[in-house]
Amino acid sequence: MTGSSGLTLRERDARVIADIARLRFSPVSLVGGRGSRLIEEGGRELLDFGASFGPAVLGHGHPAMVEAVTAAVSNMGGASLSAYANENAVALAEELLHVTPGKGERRVWFGHSGSDANDTAMRVVAAATGRSRFISFVGSWHGGLSGSSSISGHTAMTHSLPRPGLMLLPYPDPYRGTFTAEEVLKYLDYQFATVFPPKQVAGMFIEPILDDGGLIIPPPGFLAALQERCRQHGIQLIVDEVKVGLARSGRMHCFEYEGIEPDVVVFGKALGGGLPISAVIGPKQIMDYRTAYAIQTMGGNWVAAAAGRAVLKAIEDEKLIERANRIGAILEQGLLGLMARHEIIGEVRGRGMVLGIDLVRDRKSRQPVPVQTTAKVIYRAYQLGAIFFYVGLGGNVLEFTPPLTLTEAEAAEGLAIIDQALIDVGNGMVSDAEVAPYIMW
Ligand SMILES: *Cc1c(COP(=O)(O)O)cnc(C)c1O
Repeated sequence: MTGSSGLTLRERDARVIADIARLRFSPVSLVGGRGSRLIEEGGRELLDFGASFGPAVLGHGHPAMVEAVTAAVSNMGGASLSAYANENAVALAEELLHVTPGKGERRVWFGHSGSDANDTAMRVVAAATGRSRFISFVGSWHGGLSGSSSISGHTAMTHSLPRPGLMLLPYPDPYRGTFTAEEVLKYLDYQFATVFPPKQVAGMFIEPILDDGGLIIPPPGFLAALQERCRQHGIQLIVDEVKVGLARSGRMHCFEYEGIEPDVVVFGKALGGGLPISAVIGPKQIMDYRTAYAIQTMGGNWVAAAAGRAVLKAIEDEKLIERANRIGAILEQGLLGLMARHEIIGEVRGRGMVLGIDLVRDRKSRQPVPVQTTAKVIYRAYQLGAIFFYVGLGGNVLEFTPPLTLTEAEAAEGLAIIDQALIDVGNGMVSDAEVAPYIMW
């Protein structure tokens, strides 16, 4: 189908949207969506197994979201939390503090994206502690702004330099065993004892599941061991919950699995259910560092904050944490069932409703398949009617982060599509040329 220009939406997209903001994993071009379905140009409905990398936790057009946002936009309490206190933002901050464990007096900052939130966390922690070094992990993705990309370690980010004074540690990978937790801790201690004085370290950024880096679950005790070192040296432990936080992992916060208590917690994606809002929660003495230190005029604005409240309320009203565990278990069982039939699946891993399958050349070597193979599965699944993405530094991990409102029937439907896509790709149904435009990183 074509618009008035005679071009498809996809062709128009290619003509006007900048490559620097594009990650097109399939030809899907959307004109709408409802529930767990996305509607592409021409009217075909596709099952959403990616929730747009996570934000669409309530799916699309959820009645509670429609109601909250419609009410907010019809009665706007201004458009800036920087200029005026507003009911929606203050209430959302109260609710976020209520659901997020932490000691002492804390304050909340609101922005628009995970990127600006990590950016702000980095800047304010450095300023308030007077320390300039940071630690983060190879494979981490903390955002696409100057600050947040400078403390990220994704291979797709080698286009720009890291922040001076950043140490990138390997994230221990229990499946491939590239580094063990013990080796990483030993290396960190060695750095601390030599050229990276811990008293100069402002903060450590941690993803509780290294998602874009390959959906890697930290080995038990690893994050707790990091926390112990942070406490010992007065280093702020900053946990980036942007991707996996707020019920998706089967807990309200993914860090709860580790028995840790971060100093600073960063929220994004799911918080707005698709509308732009992010938050940083941290100790008062850091977050009150200086009036007007991190202003964004529309951060915490009336409408996005209303969306945030609707998401938190739906998590409670619809028992989405329990649901993430229940539907997540069905998905995991289903994926394990596929593993029994498809040699290409080396491992199924994840928590709640953030799940991945690691595609390998063979199970013995655990060598990743070429990214083309992963892209073919995604492309074929798109043709069959489901949308999801890939992650991992080798691009070999299929990532499933559906809306938390996904039904059992939809879970079964998606699993059947993944099964068929694996069969078809195994039979050589998709060519390298077909997927060449969809290999993004
Ligand atoms: C996506 C992501 C971000 C950045 O969020 P944006 O909404 O893209 O700005 C930060 N941290 C993690 C862990 C993410 O997955």
